[in-house]
Amino acid sequence: MVASGKGGVGKSTVASNLAIAFKRIGLKTCLLDADIYGPSIPTMFDINEKPKSDGKQIETLNKYGIATMSIGYMVNDDNPMIWRGLMVMKAINELISKVNWGEADIMVIDLPPGTGDVQLTLTQKLKIDGSLLVTTPQDIALIDVVRGLRMFEKTEIPIMGLVENMSYFVAPDTGKQYPLFGEGKTEKIAEKYDYEILSRIPHDPLLLEQCENGHPLTDLVPEHKVSRIFIELAENVLKKLKLQRLANS
Ligand code: ADP
Repeated sequence: MVASGKGGVGKSTVASNLAIAFKRIGLKTCLLDADIYGPSIPTMFDINEKPKSDGKQIETLNKYGIATMSIGYMVNDDNPMIWRGLMVMKAINELISKVNWGEADIMVIDLPPGTGDVQLTLTQKLKIDGSLLVTTPQDIALIDVVRGLRMFEKTEIPIMGLVENMSYFVAPDTGKQYPLFGEGKTEKIAEKYDYEILSRIPHDPLLLEQCENGHPLTDLVPEHKVSRIFIELAENVLKKLKLQRLANS
């Protein structure tokens, strides 16, 4: 699960590039966009179709080698959805049990920000192997990260670590790195709660452009330095999952 305490910190950007990175390291990957309040995967993968269904099962929409499903494929862009507890549970249940996911090695789930019904329903329905918490190095985002950490600890979802997004900006002329929001803040939280920072992703205009154009950078330019960071993150997560499985067997 790719989670965040707050909206707008890059959770969907990380989820989509991480899904592509898993594919690039040879895993059959699927991506569930469970962000019912603001589904971004249709935009990030430039998918505008409605999924096919025979009335019993719903087929995934496949692009860039990833099987995807999003609540955004079912609802109209301009209509804000007002979700109540039971509706959330029903929608999430359908995304999990009615969708023909086929065979996959790994599923990446893009969660809504915060700590709410979707997170709880998913943890009741699925055995989640791990979660990543995406944050930016700003106090305002980090306060909510602590809430997210607390919720995952309560629901016993393994937290694999933090992903610090928009950590720094690389000047295109000199290659020098500039911290965008100050330094050391995410480390403080990671140390205090004893979690690892698994990845630091720079602010990169190309990453933004490609998300908005509907083709994740990690697929479009896999050798780009930011794509390589996502591929390293995927390798690291896979290693952790394997170790976890060994420890539990
Ligand atoms: P969230 O899912 O947390 O709401 P998004 O992934 O939708 O956040 O990202 C919000 C906006 O920030 C998007 O326009 C996205 O392209 C942009 N963005 C996210 N991460 C980066 C980054 N590292 N560099 C540049 N733009 C980014």
